[in-house]
Amino acid sequence: MHIPFLDLKAINQDCREQLIEAMTQVLDSGWYIQGKQLEHFEERFAGYCGSRFCLGVANGLDALTLTLRAWKLMGKLQAGDEVIVPANTYIASILSITENGLVPVLVEPDPQTFNLCPKNVEQALTAKTRVLLPVHLYGQLADMPALLEIAAKHQLLVLEDSAQSHGATLNGRKAGNWGDASGFSFYPGKNLGALGDAGAITTSDPELFQVLKALRNYGSHEKYKNIYQGVNSRLDELQAAVLSVKLDYLDQQTTQRRNIANLYLNNITCSDITLPSVTSAEQHVWHLFVIRTQHREALQQHLASQGVQTLIHYPIPPHKQQAYPSLQHLQLPITEQMHEQVLSLPMGPTMTEEQAMHVVQACNSFAPGA
Ligand SMILES: *Cc1c(COP(=O)(O)O)cnc(C)c1O
Repeated sequence: MHIPFLDLKAINQDCREQLIEAMTQVLDSGWYIQGKQLEHFEERFAGYCGSRFCLGVANGLDALTLTLRAWKLMGKLQAGDEVIVPANTYIASILSITENGLVPVLVEPDPQTFNLCPKNVEQALTAKTRVLLPVHLYGQLADMPALLEIAAKHQLLVLEDSAQSHGATLNGRKAGNWGDASGFSFYPGKNLGALGDAGAITTSDPELFQVLKALRNYGSHEKYKNIYQGVNSRLDELQAAVLSVKLDYLDQQTTQRRNIANLYLNNITCSDITLPSVTSAEQHVWHLFVIRTQHREALQQHLASQGVQTLIHYPIPPHKQQAYPSLQHLQLPITEQMHEQVLSLPMGPTMTEEQAMHVVQACNSFAPGA
């Protein structure tokens, strides 16, 4: 039995007829950018998250970068201001900060959940701190009640990186509806994935919404009249139409991911594997199922020999990347250990129970040194 890490083709085959119909409608409409499909998707996704507004952009990185840029234009941020971000995030969160001339302050995550740790945030606050950028890593929300409390006390802006957590909730409140704004990615492999690059920002702030609406479109609300030095970062009609179809399947797919996660959680008993810690099982959307082990290379090889494909999210932390020599002096032992121990098991909405149990058995037959 071969079990791929994620079977994207199977996921999109499930709604193949509807996708073809939606794409044909766009083809035949003669309108391909900033039209009805985008408006429709934005309205629906805002409603899904519970926020007032949604703005489609070209990708998840732009969603974060443009939001910080908009806050600069609105006079809420200036170059040199500090943004607190978990040290173990994907590089995109950090890139959005440095692209804007802001300073990333990397803090160690909670070692249980891998999410931004409120205690460490408090210790990292300085007179220059202006933004908290929690990342809902692997599909589980950060401790947003505690983080919002810190933000309120110190008058900080909160930008959620929700790229891995479409539909995840905490106390019944969804990702994308906690911060002043939130960035989403619809990269094909994300829980809600387009057939190419796409992203979105959610917010309930009408002023931010207006600035972003112009920024993503050359800084223009009105054709040929430019109020900002904007960019071209638009979510095209074809991707918007695809996303509207796939949004209807998202909750059902999340349930399927939860079933697979529960099979793993209840049946993997190998003592060399630490299972992910779940603050609330019914609220996690399981973008990734990430275990920890001190024998990663051996485990990965063992699983591969049983036909189980695994990946590492992520092998190198941002502060050790060649792109950031200025961060290399940082000592972040929790983050560094994580990057040596994490391994992501196959996870996806089209996985069968039989496949999941095969992964379980492959894990349980692992004996390092044997
Ligand atoms: C995928 C991802 C992004 C970036 O999204 P793109 O659409 O690939 O630009 C940002 N942050 C996190 C945590 C991600 O997983």
